[in-house]
Amino acid sequence: MKDACNQFRDSLADMADGTADAATVAHVNSCQSCLIIVNDLKMIVARAHQEWFTAPSEWISAAKALMPETRKIFTCHRLQLRGIAPARGPVDEFQIVVGTDELSLRLMATPTDTGWNIMGQFPSSDWEMEGQPNVTISGPRFQFSAKDLSETAFELVSMDTILQVPPMNRLIRDDSI
Ligand SMILES: [Zn+2]
Repeated sequence: MKDACNQFRDSLADMADGTADAATVAHVNSCQSCLIIVNDLKMIVARAHQEWFTAPSEWISAAKALMPETRKIFTCHRLQLRGIAPARGPVDEFQIVVGTDELSLRLMATPTDTGWNIMGQFPSSDWEMEGQPNVTISGPRFQFSAKDLSETAFELVSMDTILQVPPMNRLIRDDSI
């Protein structure tokens, strides 16, 4: 590489993505070895752009379906129930504790004008919630609304575990889950 080339070496990448100054453009247009480097860089830039192109959602779903699910999946049982008079069923606010042998999760259900509001707390900060489109997350708490207790199923997901929480109507009614 000639001395003149060294001077422009750092700006060749600018040339590849179209932001080079006039001096760099002039040098590259008159220097075969720098032109070859710029052409290589252009190919790399073009490939990088392709990789970041947003895939259609059906491609993403198809790709996800091909990946094996390696996380452990647990279904929560009912551990405790407070605030429901058996004769009346769930008409007022109630609390339910659900979980597995290792994890428990306290949920509060509050009746609203349009159904129910469900509030809970993540076991720790590395969990995410899935399965409820209108969830609101604020710090360690999550809450969502549902028209009916039968529409309150969700999942808490961490790197290695999926915790399935059945809908409240089943958790209340069924002593075996
Ligand atoms: Zn050159």
